Amino acid sequence: ETLLQRIHTLNPQLNAFITVAEATALASAAEADARLAKGESGPLLGLPMAHKDIFCTADLPTTCASKMLENFVAPYSATVVERLAAAGMVMLGKLNMDEFAMGSSNETSYFGPVHNPWNVDMVPGGSSGGSAAAVAAGLVPVATGTDTGGSIRQPAALCGITGIKPTYGRVSRFGMIAFASSLDQGGPMARSAEDCALLLDAMAAHDPRDSTSHPAAASDFLRGLDRPLQGLRVGVPEEFFGEGLDPEVAAAVQAGIDQLAKLGASVQSIRLPNNPHAVSTYYVLAPAEASSNLSRFDGVRYTHRSHAVENLDDLYRKSRYEGFGAEVRRRILVGAYVLSAGYYDAYYLKAQQVRSLIREDFRRAFAEVDVIVGPTTPGPAFGLGAKNADPVSMYLADIYTIAVNLAGIPALSMPCGFTRSGLPIGMQLMGDYFADDLLLNVAHRYQ
Ligand code: GLN
Repeated sequence: ETLLQRIHTLNPQLNAFITVAEATALASAAEADARLAKGESGPLLGLPMAHKDIFCTADLPTTCASKMLENFVAPYSATVVERLAAAGMVMLGKLNMDEFAMGSSNETSYFGPVHNPWNVDMVPGGSSGGSAAAVAAGLVPVATGTDTGGSIRQPAALCGITGIKPTYGRVSRFGMIAFASSLDQGGPMARSAEDCALLLDAMAAHDPRDSTSHPAAASDFLRGLDRPLQGLRVGVPEEFFGEGLDPEVAAAVQAGIDQLAKLGASVQSIRLPNNPHAVSTYYVLAPAEASSNLSRFDGVRYTHRSHAVENLDDLYRKSRYEGFGAEVRRRILVGAYVLSAGYYDAYYLKAQQVRSLIREDFRRAFAEVDVIVGPTTPGPAFGLGAKNADPVSMYLADIYTIAVNLAGIPALSMPCGFTRSGLPIGMQLMGDYFADDLLLNVAHRYQ
């Protein structure tokens, strides 16, 4: 009730929630009370949370922040939603995001932008901007997010919280509306690495309903949190400290690396030579997968349907034109283009080859170091509207986060300082496949 009241007071300013689920929240809180009264216990039983509005919920609308799904109620809940409900968590509602998770500022939402709680004239980052803002403003202690090219880590950095993109295959994608299936991964966003570990413990599990779910997905993320960092080998990629990095961000991240050294880590410089190609590779592959995934929104089955139509083709065309926002249409056009006959080899196939090189960079690096550390973003939160006229400048906000998704490895962002103007700065930890627990351990010791 306290949090619902706080949401009621602050959400008009922040716009972090698309749906506040007052009635269902109070009912599941009562249910959690009853379970506690029966002597049941569990680390998440009765704790409040909220889901990014990309996770399907059977009893509430799931919009993906799109007009296309404005009135959509899913016939089933996502595995992640079911698992957290089974753990006794009380879901307070659905959080704002970029439309279909496409964006880095939460400004492509059909429901309007989210405002950064540290300065409401600034963006919270995206696409999980509602999740990051809600946690940072204390509307919920933890939230779910999804990360296709940085959408958990970048908003976590810009809002001063901790978030982890788990190893691909750790968290079930069943019921998580698909953007780019080979890159999408759900994960926790919270005020500390410990809270992230607690949530990830309940989220991660093998799910036969997701064919890319890993059989060894589950793990105990809390057990190793306190391990000392003595002897930890930290690699700092040269490519992450070049042109375009804000000096205040560089200084704060350097101070963070020094702190890791004080905690017992040995620090060495490494190379990720193909990282400069990550953004261009991603913006071929992610739109290609998106154009395919989003073809299901045809105006016939469960989406926005245009009425003034002349025939079936016209129905598809008008429904999709009216239902999708400009950024989503841009991605579909790019994706259809790079997959089309005559261009497939030049773009899609080439990008898949570069993806292998990027993966290979990490394989080589993790033969030498345990964790790779660098900035999460090239700069702190930017002004609302500042990058809207130039999509490429917006795409560069993910210059340090995207390679991780292309490789499928885990990565975490945590706060490491503030700019002089009081905006949070994030530091990124990247690990080898299934080293999610090590990243949480390093972040926990640091915090
Ligand atoms: N900002 C990137 C994009 O617009 C990544 C988004 C994401 O991770 N969902 O595609």
